[in-house]
Amino acid sequence: MSIEQNEIIKTTDPIFTLSIASKLSETPAHSIRQYIDKGLILPFNTKTGRHLFSEVDIIRLKCIKAHLNGQGLNIAGIKALYSLIPCWAIKECSMKERKNCGAYKESSTPCWEASHKSFTCLNTDCRECEVYRIPESCKDLKSLLKVLIP
Ligand code: SF4
Repeated sequence: MSIEQNEIIKTTDPIFTLSIASKLSETPAHSIRQYIDKGLILPFNTKTGRHLFSEVDIIRLKCIKAHLNGQGLNIAGIKALYSLIPCWAIKECSMKERKNCGAYKESSTPCWEASHKSFTCLNTDCRECEVYRIPESCKDLKSLLKVLIP
């Protein structure tokens, strides 16, 4: 099962610094750092240790803001929501892969934070992955399930 192609419309090119991302998303830089620490967002890391952000990241930051302000969630709640995304169904992982995958077995972290990953994900850049990009359009869990189970 795959996410419709037209769901993915923004570039993941890392082009914005933290301060620009902060302005574009109307999110304080210290909050962005906190979201990074909590695994809600995966910035691109340069060789010098700077974070860079893409258009997709800006949308994710705006979604996080909407979840916090409009839907009454806190950071832990958003993380729990992301942890429920059934990546194994989206990536069509076999039962054998699921048994060896932290993302399948662990329930408290999003798959991109899993302790170990299945063969399907080992060589995939999570920033480019359709699973990581699902929350970019502010979908709630029911909207997500409608995509997965039409
Ligand atoms: S590539 Fe990364 S984001 Fe995609 S399903 Fe695997 S762990 Fe999750």
